Amino acid sequence: MASLVAAARQVLPVGAQSSLTGGATPRGEVVISTRALNGIGEVSDGGPRRTVRTGAGVPLSALQRALRSAGLYYPPVPTYDGAFLGGTIATNAAGAATFKYGSARPGVERMTVVLADGSILELRRGDVVASPDGWFELERPGGALVRIPVPTYAMPEVAKLSAGYYARAGMDLVDLFVGSEGTLGFIVDADVRVIPRPRACAALVRCTSDGQAIALTAALRREAAASWRGEGPLDVSAVEFMDQRALAVVPAEAFARAGVARPAAPDVMLLAQIEVPGDADATLQRLQDVLDASGVDADPHMAMPGDLEGAARLFELRESVPASVNAVVAAAKQTYPDIEKTAADLVVPFERLANALALYRETFERHAVPYAIWGHVSDGNLHPNVIPQSWEHVERGRKAILEMAHAVIAMGGAPLAEHGVGRSTLKQRLLRDLYGERGIAEMRAVKRALDPEWKFSPGVLFQRG
Ligand SMILES: Cc1cc2nc3c(=O)[nH]c(=O)nc-3n(C[C@H](O)[C@H](O)[C@H](O)COP(=O)(O)OP(=O)(O)OC[C@H]3O[C@@H](n4cnc5c(N)ncnc54)[C@H](O)[C@@H]3O)c2cc1C
Repeated sequence: MASLVAAARQVLPVGAQSSLTGGATPRGEVVISTRALNGIGEVSDGGPRRTVRTGAGVPLSALQRALRSAGLYYPPVPTYDGAFLGGTIATNAAGAATFKYGSARPGVERMTVVLADGSILELRRGDVVASPDGWFELERPGGALVRIPVPTYAMPEVAKLSAGYYARAGMDLVDLFVGSEGTLGFIVDADVRVIPRPRACAALVRCTSDGQAIALTAALRREAAASWRGEGPLDVSAVEFMDQRALAVVPAEAFARAGVARPAAPDVMLLAQIEVPGDADATLQRLQDVLDASGVDADPHMAMPGDLEGAARLFELRESVPASVNAVVAAAKQTYPDIEKTAADLVVPFERLANALALYRETFERHAVPYAIWGHVSDGNLHPNVIPQSWEHVERGRKAILEMAHAVIAMGGAPLAEHGVGRSTLKQRLLRDLYGERGIAEMRAVKRALDPEWKFSPGVLFQRG
């Protein structure tokens, strides 16, 4: 494969091609699939920093299956678990439990990367770090020295970010490749951190308003933080949000499969994942106390610790939200073929989320477009989606999303939380709005240092300029 990269004029690495940004959609490049890179190695005996060497083409669902027999778990799993490990590292993917475990980035301890000249880079965290004056120096076979500048833009302080190249003083070179969306090299395999498989339960909670849902999420986040300090029994690892409009799109069969009644308007739903290492009674009692204190009247729908099927049914209900919205958009496309999925991936510091959610609703309503909102509320990351029934809705929806994105940037957040930038013209514009032309120029300088012929994934993240 290294010789294929060396010989090709332009290459596009692809994983499961579940990218929502067109990043894995070829435009005439030599496409290199990672599908055959499907090996899963032994788990290292590294104590709390236990890792497993995994091929870039391993679907996360297969990785979890392999780890389950050893009582282990890989935490950064996006909602779509058919994504391949390499794709999730390339996009710094993040899932619901990012709140507790972080996105893909911090779990990568080592990787093998094929660079644009066909040379192979074996990179372990700590091997290459940026110098105090902001450069990486990388020696290549034959003694050539590659100098890579570290961009100087300030990244927003949010729970997750997939917005071009990572940039921090003194950063590790591993972190530059994570989230680079295939533009700097081809990830062949990686050693990723795994943890003992948590024993978890799930609680689906009905709230009567956005305000109640966010206040409850804030309370659950505080409980979680206390439990991580060893000061409480309510170890919440994720909270997911589905608004009334999202729930309205989900077909009756999905509620029936979950064994849950569809909530009446204006109710919204939260799905909390709670880890229960010890006494379940203490955890459940504390959960009830928090629900009572938050004024939640309805009993939660629970999947108890060990009830894996019950938990899976509740998470399927959550996953059926984007699938149902996609189905509605696809049906509308039968009448209006130009219609496109039009969605945002916005993250704000959690303290700003109540304001942000009110702003998302106000903006959609002012532009008069049908919409729904759901997402990873414990991270401050929501997905406001237009549900277009005409091309006009797509156009107005895009305007609304741009307005929201700019407001989110002004709040210290980011309009590119977890899906990346890819080849979407809208998202590339948002990347420019986030870091300015100077930031994009700094990213181009990174790209030129590692890929002077612009061989990898041309047009992904930014144009050549
Ligand atoms: C229903 C649904 C739900 C989703 N939910 C989430 C979510 O909760 N969180 C989230 O983060 N994302 C989510 N996504 C988006 C998507 O699943 C992720 O971006 C995922 O990480 C992409 O993995 P993939 O293997 O499909 O990569 P692809 O789509 O094949 O590729 C994505 C990008 O990575 C590059 N790439 C792929 N493999 C490599 C490699 N080995 N080396 C270098 N570059 C590579 C490609 O060139 C491309 O730019 C969702 C998608 C769907 C369809």
